[in-house]
Amino acid sequence: MREYSVAAVPGDGIGSEVISAGIRVLHAVAARDGGFNLNVENFPWGTDYYLEHGKMMPEDALDTLRAFDAIYFGSAGDPRVPDHISLWGLRLAICQPLDQYANVRPARLLPGIQGPLRDVGPEDLDWVIVRENSEGEYAGVGGRVHSGLADEVGMDVAVFTRSGVERIQRFALELARSRPRKKLTLVTKSNAQRHGMVFWDDVFEKVREDFPDVETDKMLVDAMTTRMVLNPESLDTIVATNLHADVLSDLAAALTGSLGIAPTANLRPERDAPSMFEPIHGSAFDIMGQGIANPIGSFWTAAMMLDHLGETVAAASLMTAVERVTANGDILPRDLGGDASTEQVTDAVIDALEGRNE
Ligand code: ATP
Repeated sequence: MREYSVAAVPGDGIGSEVISAGIRVLHAVAARDGGFNLNVENFPWGTDYYLEHGKMMPEDALDTLRAFDAIYFGSAGDPRVPDHISLWGLRLAICQPLDQYANVRPARLLPGIQGPLRDVGPEDLDWVIVRENSEGEYAGVGGRVHSGLADEVGMDVAVFTRSGVERIQRFALELARSRPRKKLTLVTKSNAQRHGMVFWDDVFEKVREDFPDVETDKMLVDAMTTRMVLNPESLDTIVATNLHADVLSDLAAALTGSLGIAPTANLRPERDAPSMFEPIHGSAFDIMGQGIANPIGSFWTAAMMLDHLGETVAAASLMTAVERVTANGDILPRDLGGDASTEQVTDAVIDALEGRNE
């Protein structure tokens, strides 16, 4: 029996609701597969922990996490503490030191889901956004001085290194090569950001020479938003900086029906540290505790986790079960136009896995 250890960090808001739903589904997938076992350990870190201990997670949290095969994460953010404290104290405090530099965000219309774009079906919208996950404006370089004075300064410096840019572009080109269309769009803003983004473009010109079989093009980030809406079928794999991809992937999630569907994987491709899998959505405090959160983003990212662990058959069967439920349309969460609870959607996916609702 293959054994995997998974650290579950549900975090704040609806994180615990969607992660516990995801763990139920993962155990059902493993039981059905019969070839592997998931040992899931839960870590109650986040804002409640912060209010008690003055930090979002313990000092030795990273050492603890390093021992696991994967991390299954919910969300960080709670109105009781400023967002930058919860984000930097939990999610980024894991991603950055574990150097999970490749943030992969698939976006596609699941069967049965009508997105907001008229006449756009599943065959027209099937993207993977690769977000650089360690540099840019989120590298942590900057500062704030002369607090409260008229000449107060606040700066976040966009940091780009040759090694950082090259590794993410190479990763994205390899991913594009593995997909049927072999097509990659580089997102940039080199008309206005004439240092870092011109450098980003220059590195791409060099790196793409190693991938002559991948068709590439380049878009300014502002023009990219209109292309995503008006010509979604013209895109396949997309690579962008940390900030640009952060924004574009929320748009992508909305175009596929709801933020509640979208998954993301923070990958450490070298596999010398665990990768982290999470739904894209945040804490969604407006619906917390009501049992109505859409758990599909956490199921989809669980499938990405299984894939990363090498359980490709189990990953595919989980996605097939999710798609069966969306295609059927009887049991959908509220954000997708239905009235099913988190638990009912979870039960429906488990039934579909076990072939009970065919
Ligand atoms: P963050 O800053 O942490 O990204 P946010 O406040 O920008 O968070 P979310 O917490 O993701 O964004 O919520 C945005 C909106 O989407 C909210 O109205 C929320 O209820 C809704 N939403 C997010 N996730 C889900 C979900 N899984 N199911 C249903 N609705 C959701």
